Amino acid sequence: MPNQGDGEYRLSGNLGLSMIGVPVVAAAIISVLAVIYAYITVYSPIAGWISILFVAAFAFGVGASLSFAAHLSKCRNMSYAKMMGAIAAVFAIYTSWVAFEYVLLSRYSTDFDSSLVDIFMHPQVVWEIAQAIAVDGWYGIGSMQIAGMVLWVFWALEAAIVFTVTWLLAPSSLESSVFCENCGEWADEYEGCTRFELSDDTDDISRYHPQNLTLPLDIPPFAMLEKSGIRIDTWSCAKCSDLAAAQTHVVQYSIDKDGDLTEVDEPLSPIWLVPFGVVEALHAHRDVAFAAMEAEDEAAQLAQKMANRGLENEDVLLDDAVDDFGDDDD
Ligand SMILES: [Zn+2]
Repeated sequence: MPNQGDGEYRLSGNLGLSMIGVPVVAAAIISVLAVIYAYITVYSPIAGWISILFVAAFAFGVGASLSFAAHLSKCRNMSYAKMMGAIAAVFAIYTSWVAFEYVLLSRYSTDFDSSLVDIFMHPQVVWEIAQAIAVDGWYGIGSMQIAGMVLWVFWALEAAIVFTVTWLLAPSSLESSVFCENCGEWADEYEGCTRFELSDDTDDISRYHPQNLTLPLDIPPFAMLEKSGIRIDTWSCAKCSDLAAAQTHVVQYSIDKDGDLTEVDEPLSPIWLVPFGVVEALHAHRDVAFAAMEAEDEAAQLAQKMANRGLENEDVLLDDAVDDFGDDDD
C-alpha cells in the first residue's frame, strides 16, 4: 500500500496520460496565445516599454498552460514536466514568431497571401522574414527606430523571458500536490487548514511537525494570525480514507506599504504522510473554530443592529444568540 505509513510524501514518477495530454493541450493553448500575442504586439497603439508587459503576460500564459496540462493529465513526474517545459518554451517562441510575421505582413504587405500553417511549416522562411524585418525595424520608441542589432537584442531578451518563465512554471502544479495512487486522483488540498499563534518564544516548534501530530490533537485552536505563527496545510483523498498528508509552515505577516497583508512562509516540514484521522481532526478543529467565529460575528452584527434601533432588550437577544450557538455545538 504505497499511500499509507509515515514519512515524506514523494511523487510516484508516474506519467499518467501526460505523454499525450501535455503536448496536445499545451500546443493547442500556446497556439491560441501566440496569435493573440501577435495581434496585440502588431496592433498596439503604443509601442515601447509596455511591450515588456505583453511579453511577460505571454510567457506567464505559456507557463501556466504547461502547468495546467501536467495537472490535467495527472503527470507525477517532475523531470518530465521540466523537460516538457523546455520543449514547450521553444515551441512557444517559434509559434509566436510565426504568428507575429503572419500578422505583421498581413497588415503592411499588400501582396501577402500565405496562411499561418504555411509559414509554420517553413522555418527557413520564418528566419528569412525575421532578418528582413530586422534591417529597418518595424517600430520606434520615442523618436528612435528600433532596428538592427538593438532589435535582435530585444528579441533575444523576449525569447529568454519566455523560456525562463515557462521552464519555472511548467512543473509548478506538481510542487505542492499529492496524488492518491490507489484512486488515481489528485488529493484535495486545503491551504491554511489551521493557523495559530505560538504560545510563547520558548515553544518547541518541532512538535508541530506533521510527524509529531498524533490523536488526540494537542495543538491550539485555529486563530487568524496578525504577526506570526504556525500554518498547517492538508491533503486528503476525497475517494478513500487512505491517503492524507500535511505540511507545517512557520509564517510571518506584515502589512506592506499599500496596506496589504503579506505572508512569508518557511516550511518546517516537507509534505508528510499522516494517518487519515489526523487530517480529519484538523478539519474538525477548523470547523469548530470557524463556527465560533461566525457566531461571534453574528452576535456582533445583531448587537450593532439593535444599537442602531435603540432597542433596550439588547442583552436578552444577545444571550439568545449565544445560546443558539451553544445548541449547534452540542
Ligand atoms: Zn484515494
